[in-house]
Amino acid sequence: MNLKIGIIKGDGIGPEIVTEAQKVLNKIAETYGHTCEYTELLLGGASIDVHGVPLTDETVAAAKQCDAVLMGSIGGDAKTSPWYQLEPSKRPEAGLLRIRKELNLFANLRPAVLYDELKGACPLKESITEGGFDMMIMRELTGGLYFGERKTVEVDGVLTAFDSLTYNEEEIRRIAKRAFDIAMKRRKKVTSVDKANVLDSSRLWRKVVEEVAEEYPEVTLEHMLVDNCAMQLVKDPKQFDVILTENMFGDILSDEASMVTGSIGMLASASLNETKFGLYEPSGGSAPDIAGKGIANPIATILSAAMMLRFSFDLDQEADAIEKAVEKVLKEGYRTIDIMSEGKTQIGTAGMGDLIASFIRR
Ligand code: NAD
Repeated sequence: MNLKIGIIKGDGIGPEIVTEAQKVLNKIAETYGHTCEYTELLLGGASIDVHGVPLTDETVAAAKQCDAVLMGSIGGDAKTSPWYQLEPSKRPEAGLLRIRKELNLFANLRPAVLYDELKGACPLKESITEGGFDMMIMRELTGGLYFGERKTVEVDGVLTAFDSLTYNEEEIRRIAKRAFDIAMKRRKKVTSVDKANVLDSSRLWRKVVEEVAEEYPEVTLEHMLVDNCAMQLVKDPKQFDVILTENMFGDILSDEASMVTGSIGMLASASLNETKFGLYEPSGGSAPDIAGKGIANPIATILSAAMMLRFSFDLDQEADAIEKAVEKVLKEGYRTIDIMSEGKTQIGTAGMGDLIASFIRR
């Protein structure tokens, strides 16, 4: 298969970590008989330096020509970088928000995996995490409270703020379908999280999710109230496979779920639209404090590339091969500085990419 991949190296550690992910993708292509056709795209500070704006129309058009986009991270140090002297609409982050909107990326996926080898970094008790856990948070990204009407007005002489939480059934249906599709590739369980005991939007959410569930008889659906879910994530994270939820609940729960895994350098993510297209990136930022030192952990980006193979190209075996290579590297005791612990072997960004690529097997 020819894989048409847009590459946004981005800023800070972005170019270092994306280079390693490409190294691993090239090894996959060689091992499984695919070709990778990369198109380099500029976004964020790197685009400001060349074009004066964080994203150009040409870049959007070029991204749309690709099957998927793999991205490092964008942005710089807000105190020292000249990019932050620009007005807000011209800063690096504005480019990211715009590309997500232009590509209609409504479904955000964040896996939270606790590797047995890294369980020391997990803040939960060992009795809870024994054997590790592996869940996927699917958050609606373009609707709900963050995109609703809002205003601050005076009511009877008192300053009063309004934010509205709106969802229509189509917005709910398209993300629910995505969640069930992904559950079919995993352990076939969806936990839909809402606040249906209080909110109308949640009651509609529940109704539509139940309708979609009927199309997926192999998948077990359960509903959970968001307050209970926040507790269950720290009490018994192993119970979850796919967590499906709306924008604000997902914002909070995905951060909670990722924190219980320990390290930011290990967390992949994907944002998908209605087609197979997706934007894949590590959950962390551009880490300007360690940029250029060759010590950043490339694993989150490499795992994002695995998600890309699985969700945009349906190459499950190839994605499994990357995930297994990451597990092997951890099992053999290799660590970048952020996940280093006593008795392990410390290596740099390129060393980690080389090792993972060398562990790719058919
Ligand atoms: P950050 O995630 O960049 O860094 C937080 C801490 O985590 C730092 O100590 C950093 O060294 C460490 N870290 C992050 N990724 C790492 C990796 N792969 N390996 C080892 N250590 C890693 O967050 P921040 O400092 O708040 O933000 C820095 C810049 O990144 C800002 O400009 C911010 O706007 C941007 N940012 C971009 C994205 C994105 O591109 N999607 C997301 C978040 C933040």
